[in-house]
Amino acid sequence: MSLLIHEFTNEQKIAYYSMEIGLRSDMSTYSGGLGVLAGDTIKSAADLRLPMVAVSILTKKGYFKQELDKQGRQIELPDEWDPSQFMAPLKERVRVYIEDREVLVGSWLYVVKSAAGGKLPIIFLDTDLPENLPQDRELTHYLYGGDLAYRLKQEIILGIGGTRMLDKLGFSIKKYHMNEGHSALLTLELLRRYKRSIDEVWDERSVWDVEKVRKLCVFTTHTPVEAGHDKFDYDLVEKVMGAVLPIPMMKSFAGNDKLNMTLLGLNLSHYINGVAKKHGEVSQGMFPGYEIHAITNGVHSFTWVCDSMKALFDKYLAGWANEPEIFVRAGRISDDELWAAHMEAKRALIDYVNQETQVGMEYDVLTVGYARRATAYKRADLLFSDIERFAAIGKGKLQIIYAGKAHPKDDSGKRLIARILEIKEMLKKKVRIVFLKNYNMDLALKLVSGVDVWLNTPQRPLEASGTSGMKAAHNGVPNFSVLDGWWIEGHIEGFTGWAIGPSPDVAADPARDADDLYEKLENVIIPTYYNNRTTWIRIMNNAISQNANYFNTNRMMRRYVTEAYIR
Ligand SMILES: *Cc1c(COP(=O)(O)O)cnc(C)c1O
Repeated sequence: MSLLIHEFTNEQKIAYYSMEIGLRSDMSTYSGGLGVLAGDTIKSAADLRLPMVAVSILTKKGYFKQELDKQGRQIELPDEWDPSQFMAPLKERVRVYIEDREVLVGSWLYVVKSAAGGKLPIIFLDTDLPENLPQDRELTHYLYGGDLAYRLKQEIILGIGGTRMLDKLGFSIKKYHMNEGHSALLTLELLRRYKRSIDEVWDERSVWDVEKVRKLCVFTTHTPVEAGHDKFDYDLVEKVMGAVLPIPMMKSFAGNDKLNMTLLGLNLSHYINGVAKKHGEVSQGMFPGYEIHAITNGVHSFTWVCDSMKALFDKYLAGWANEPEIFVRAGRISDDELWAAHMEAKRALIDYVNQETQVGMEYDVLTVGYARRATAYKRADLLFSDIERFAAIGKGKLQIIYAGKAHPKDDSGKRLIARILEIKEMLKKKVRIVFLKNYNMDLALKLVSGVDVWLNTPQRPLEASGTSGMKAAHNGVPNFSVLDGWWIEGHIEGFTGWAIGPSPDVAADPARDADDLYEKLENVIIPTYYNNRTTWIRIMNNAISQNANYFNTNRMMRRYVTEAYIR
């Protein structure tokens, strides 16, 4: 057994599986919100010294690096990084069965070290071994790359390979937590592991100890968007993985027409949750017959507070990083110092923007930020529903900063980016707009701390939670958002920020959203920012005391422990 791993295998662990884990910008093991959430989860688990081990895929060629050409087209470049700079290779190998052959899986150990002293191991699986065929060596290279067969093979490696690897490394596991359906094949591995002999049972079906597996598994679903739920044809499944379980058995867990990874997770877990209260309800509607709980997401406070705010919090709210409940006392921070810390972050952002784009943004203009995956339901262009109205409201009073990648196969997401760049040119003389390329965790921190307002305009109820707004709140930046996901819980109108569109208990009205957006910008947000700075700073302070104190992964992890892990 590797010496390195030894210090982690002496107590039973919760195994946390995620296809992506965002720990730092220079390790391209994530694409967006799901991965960053996984990273924040793990960092908080380390702070709290929870007995946890995480499992993911190495993806050493990354997701992609984004460039934009003159026409506003997204160009995807490889985003290679060197794992040996951050982690250590382990010598243990396990095998998984893929297309009639055995593929060898190796791994790397990354240790998350909490500022509070805790340490948490992450096992990154890697098939790039000389013993494997060239096509198999690439299976863990690209995050969300390739076709459906490539995806299924990655999920075999994550779910089945990962579970075998934990065993091989000497881990004893008390719960398996699936962060999204990508890892749900682990349930099949567990069913096989705990299979009873035919002599012990009455009928053939009960050789499968379903209850035992369910007791071991926890499943978190992350999106109500249909395309977010992986489904594979059984023909493909049989071709790629053989009949792991008898097909009728498999269908009874994972769906009749296709192997649905979400159904597999739902059927074989004793605890299932969505990632915000509303998302729990929406998921319950999508999957009647299952008991779906809700644990609202958070962000890792220490990771998502900029330096100038950190200094201020250290002065007024000592201990905030390990006990974010202390943010409830943010009211003690002086207005002048809060504003000064914000302006320091804002100047750094504006300098960065001006250096990247020569657009000439100004420190004293109300700056709105919008950055997230570019995909249709997030409606990045809602702000431009009526371009003339927008220009009239924003002229001389607003500047807008955009960022976000579109998945390489998401054409409508790519068109959104091109459209924003087109409008930016069109409005050049009236409102300064920029689109910053290559959104990643570093840029995210600059943005959420340096803008004055964080905008979010999803089509309800498709935003399961959203987390960038929680990062903004941690830096005293108020949210201006459609009432969906976490904002339904975090919003107090005019106090922690502002809503766009109708309240969550009435039907969504997409046509009204843009109107409401303009109305509030013009009559509430712009006037408050320029004419009533004291009220503005009060709202900034409330974002910290009312939102950051709750929407953090420290609170979230305590809930996973008490509601999912110890049951
Ligand atoms: C936080 C974060 C996200 C998620 O933002 P949402 O508001 O949930 O869409 C995506 N990408 C990066 C780089 C992030 O840091």
